[in-house]
Amino acid sequence: MLISLDDRLSFEKSKPGRRAVSLPKGRFSDGDSLRSIPKGLLRQTSIGFPELSEPDIVRHFINLSRKNFSVDTHFYPLGSCTMKYNPKVNEWAARQEKFTALHPLQSDATVQGMLQILWELEEGLKEISGMDRFTLQPAAGAHGELTGMMLVRAYHAAHGGPTRTKVLVPDSSHGTNPASAALFGYHVVEIKSNSHGCVDLEDLKQHLDEHVACLMLTNPNTLGLFEKNILEITKLVHQHGGLLYYDGANLNPLLGIARPGDMGFDIIHINLHKTFSTPHGGGGPGAGPVGVKKHLIPFLPGPLVEQTKKGYAWASHSSQSIGRVKLFHGNVGVMIRAYAYLKTLGKEGLRKVSEAAILNANYMKEMLKDTFRVATQGPCMHEFVLSLKSFAAQGVHAGDVGKRLLDFGFHAPTVHFPLVVPEALMIEPTETEARETLDLFIEAMKEIAREIVTDPEKVKTAPHTLPVRRPNDVLAARKPILSYRDQVREKVLLAEAAA
Ligand SMILES: *Cc1c(COP(=O)(O)O)cnc(C)c1O
Repeated sequence: MLISLDDRLSFEKSKPGRRAVSLPKGRFSDGDSLRSIPKGLLRQTSIGFPELSEPDIVRHFINLSRKNFSVDTHFYPLGSCTMKYNPKVNEWAARQEKFTALHPLQSDATVQGMLQILWELEEGLKEISGMDRFTLQPAAGAHGELTGMMLVRAYHAAHGGPTRTKVLVPDSSHGTNPASAALFGYHVVEIKSNSHGCVDLEDLKQHLDEHVACLMLTNPNTLGLFEKNILEITKLVHQHGGLLYYDGANLNPLLGIARPGDMGFDIIHINLHKTFSTPHGGGGPGAGPVGVKKHLIPFLPGPLVEQTKKGYAWASHSSQSIGRVKLFHGNVGVMIRAYAYLKTLGKEGLRKVSEAAILNANYMKEMLKDTFRVATQGPCMHEFVLSLKSFAAQGVHAGDVGKRLLDFGFHAPTVHFPLVVPEALMIEPTETEARETLDLFIEAMKEIAREIVTDPEKVKTAPHTLPVRRPNDVLAARKPILSYRDQVREKVLLAEAAA
């Protein structure tokens, strides 16, 4: 969250001589350790860090965190982001010194436990997705997609045939899909959705030819719908020599119920930081493992973990491998959390996760459908999309409703996405919310609908209860203020934003 100017000015809390730490005597201040560092490498002048007492620091960060919304403080129904509660036992596991003190260059024999965890995590992901092998290296979903595009190109290059330049992407797709394909030099071709919100088969057929490298698909799609024709779709693309890429960022409705590998997909990425419950948002570390079917294994980034008679080991790259896509082995801390999540839930538990996620979404959709227009007909999967176009007369936009929800103590749902729905509000409750929380949210939504009629200004000018009201999103993205010291520039930007 952005911070008001007053708050930022009060960031300047440093006072010469204040300290929050005391280093062990003799360990750093004198003795052999210091003498062993070459003179030229020793700092002679102060680095100029703020000087603060421990209470100053604790209060500063606790107070900042209290101005923010998080999964630990608020219901967070941000569609397509799966902001489920992150069990603290995952944090406990990832924090163990047995893991944190390891170095990625240690010999295999000294990291058998870690290798076993990575191996078993991969086994779990294989079973859940129906794929044959995974690389755990990619650091995010979008990074997984880019890795996937590299695999697609390597595969087609190795198999000869016509030059394949096109990647097909449905118009409802997540923005990262066309971005990843375009970034890698593919020509992105948009496939239309039909009136039910699914892939329009006729439109797909028109774009299929020998130049199609791959179709990228999310299923359930971003409207929260399961593609009924998925087997037909994958068959058609394969018939034309193309590959099928599955955007598995949101696997939450599928665990133990359906597998992309069985639907005919060749490549998949999975967001451990969404479905497998590791904290995300704010640009923190993620993990987007990429899984493939047998015919693509030789192209995977290496090294992969192998199970041998002597234990676990990092196997060397295959000669056809696309190489590394990340330093060392990816964000292992995220993998440990995901592993703990899989182990604590087990097969039965994972299936219940998906069933509850679907049930919660359908419950909310049913409770809201008489007040708001639902963008699609029939049951949804783990999320659903409302269209607030009907409030145009009052001049209220989806974003305004999102802002007003903050006053009621709820994080805003995703707004203006997917792009195929005008004034979209995308709600994903996840399985970790209790019935009472869902009911409170439903009540708040209905109250806002009443306000739009009786007092639209109240909604248009929300939030009214938070320290920051309406930051300029565009400026925040284009000219981010990353240092509290840059006060002159800040003042100018804030004045511009207010204008
Ligand atoms: C979140 C998401 C992504 C991107 O994942 P990142 O880890 O944020 O890069 C891709 N596709 C879908 C459908 C998503 O919901």
